[in-house]
Amino acid sequence: MSRAHLSIGANLGAAIENCLRATDVLDRHVACRVLKRSRLYRTEPLGKVDQPDFINLAVELECAMEPIELLALCQAIELELGRKDGSRWGPRVIDLDLLLVDDWVMDEPELTLPHARMCERRFVLAPLAEIAPDLRHPLADKTISELLHGLGVGGGRVEVLNDLESGGVR
Ligand code: ADP
Ligand code: MG
Repeated sequence: MSRAHLSIGANLGAAIENCLRATDVLDRHVACRVLKRSRLYRTEPLGKVDQPDFINLAVELECAMEPIELLALCQAIELELGRKDGSRWGPRVIDLDLLLVDDWVMDEPELTLPHARMCERRFVLAPLAEIAPDLRHPLADKTISELLHGLGVGGGRVEVLNDLESGGVR
């Protein structure tokens, strides 16, 4: 069994529903179980800024899959929820990224672990720190909480959705 931490995001269509559905599909997969889910965050787009805010959350999974199989599952879920191949950094109905899978370190275009840009993104670190503050990044040799505090004022604006906005989902 491996322990995987994922970032889920969306900024088009029913972004909240899509993020929650993706979490649900992962949990219902035979080889996967969602152990923890962060609250939902509204986050500002980085890079390409002329697009709607994102909804983001982080999940912790227990899964009986190799990282590459988990990536394939995530891509299948993206397709199922209606993601079309669009520009990178651009708007999307759903995006699932593998952040950390146990202590895996690999650097292939198809799959880079830990996720190449996670350390500079508050929209990744803030939800992740909520469910796994003491998790260690194997390359930075810092905890998620330390990485988050290291951002200072950078890394983009994020805020937790309130009850009304998230439809009562906590
Ligand atoms: P991003 O999530 O960086 O904004 P995309 O989702 O469009 O961009 O990029 C997906 C591509 O990144 C896929 O082809 C996938 O194989 C590759 N990739 C490399 N490492 C990872 C990872 N850790 N998690 C998800 N996709 C990854
Ligand atoms: Mg992605």
